[in-house]
Amino acid sequence: MNARNEKVDTVVIGAGFAGLAAARALADDGIGVVVLEARDRVGGRAHTVHLDDGTSVDVGGQWIGPTQDAMYALAAEHGVETYPLPAHGAPVYRVGDALLHELPAGAIRLLDEFDALAATVDTHAPWDHPQATALDALTLQAWLDTRDTGTPDEKALVGRLLAGGLKTVSAGEASVLDLAFYVASGHGVGTLLDAEGGAQQDRIVGGPHAVAEAIARSLPAGSVRLNEPVHAVELVDDVVVVHTSAGTLRADHVIVAIPAATVPSAIRFTPDLPLSKRLALGRLHGGIGIKTNLVYDRPFWRDAGLSGQSNHSAGVVTETADGTTPDAVGGVLTAFVYGDEAIALRRLSPDAAVDAIVESLADVFGPQVREHRDAVTLDWADERWTGGCFSAGFGAGGLSRVGEDLRPAAGRIHFAGTEYAHTWNGYFEGAVGSGREAAAAVAADRRAAAA
Ligand SMILES: Cc1cc2nc3c(=O)[nH]c(=O)nc-3n(C[C@H](O)[C@H](O)[C@H](O)COP(=O)(O)OP(=O)(O)OC[C@H]3O[C@@H](n4cnc5c(N)ncnc54)[C@H](O)[C@@H]3O)c2cc1C
Repeated sequence: MNARNEKVDTVVIGAGFAGLAAARALADDGIGVVVLEARDRVGGRAHTVHLDDGTSVDVGGQWIGPTQDAMYALAAEHGVETYPLPAHGAPVYRVGDALLHELPAGAIRLLDEFDALAATVDTHAPWDHPQATALDALTLQAWLDTRDTGTPDEKALVGRLLAGGLKTVSAGEASVLDLAFYVASGHGVGTLLDAEGGAQQDRIVGGPHAVAEAIARSLPAGSVRLNEPVHAVELVDDVVVVHTSAGTLRADHVIVAIPAATVPSAIRFTPDLPLSKRLALGRLHGGIGIKTNLVYDRPFWRDAGLSGQSNHSAGVVTETADGTTPDAVGGVLTAFVYGDEAIALRRLSPDAAVDAIVESLADVFGPQVREHRDAVTLDWADERWTGGCFSAGFGAGGLSRVGEDLRPAAGRIHFAGTEYAHTWNGYFEGAVGSGREAAAAVAADRRAAAA
């Protein structure tokens, strides 16, 4: 097929939410589009695994919440229902040796202080913040160390809530500017961390993957091509030539909608992308989180009045949530391991890693936590077409120096993906928004060329 050197209006590379949203918007605008996807499925970081007993587990992204309007609208448009996280009991905060059911006051003050800082960041130009360089040189750990509020354990908890829970890194790696931008883009600490009223409020029947599949089905027949990784993009006389495992396609425009941190290693551009763009892409790092779904005969923690949510100031696991779906025959407890602990866990065998996760939860959930009948992990850092989880970000010193060079198109080559989003950066919502923005830019280019 591609050996015919087919010509299309626009090629979208990558069928995650950004690429699919871009393709949908282009098709709605009457612009021809072909989506090339490396994997044998659409959805990218949205992936639902179906176990033999019928239980489904979201091994990638899982929740949506208020103000993520595009995601709710997409689900509704495609007839996919959402449902709230089960509210079955109390959360547990392990702060040092104490097991609490409410965030301690010192942690709340620290979160409020960070929230106030984030509110001073312009999500369209964080590098223009009056203290951009200083905040970007500061790690979250250094910021916490110099606060005069909160105990050391409360500071450790806040470090893990923010750097871990949001960026899947340790507090010693997170740039305060990058994190403050991320918090501002997600409308504040409360919105980002909360279940009810926050980013973890709702789940999607069949998983977010069901929405991705529905968008793909809604595109013109034959426009989504799976198992077709792109390895080179070349500009030849105002035509973009896209080289894939199956041949070549020619297009007026290309939208590169693969994870931003993988662009430099995945695709060879001729001529090279501008140096400023290469430097910005090169300084992004994929997160290093591990998400493990522990499957039980029943959601036993609910009997003890627990919600399944736990947050830990120390130990292997940073946080857990009730991952049980309505179709689950049993119960699913979802455990997240981030940053230094995720690096250390990868040195263990898969079984030993699960044992370490389970043991670190025994004091919170009791001995029954050891009686899991399955443990489902997808290590996104090991996924060739993703390169990290949840998303990529800049380490200290990156955003202030090269952040403004990340988004711009390079002539006919546009970029989309959650890492480019101004709003809900790192989330499905951000991916959809950036995909639509890239499609609008392509449409504007076409109108300008036709004028
Ligand atoms: C474990 C985990 C938990 C998360 N939890 C949440 C959550 O609860 N809520 C939320 O909103 N977000 C969550 N996220 C983040 C969310 O999944 C992402 O923000 C979103 O899916 C990114 O979409 P994208 O289109 O930008 O990128 P992707 O989904 O990564 O899509 C990129 C696509 O490009 C393809 N590709 C890569 N290279 C090539 C190539 N060379 N040629 C062709 N195709 C290629 C990939 O296969 C992929 O399909 C989570 C992510 C992970 C990993």
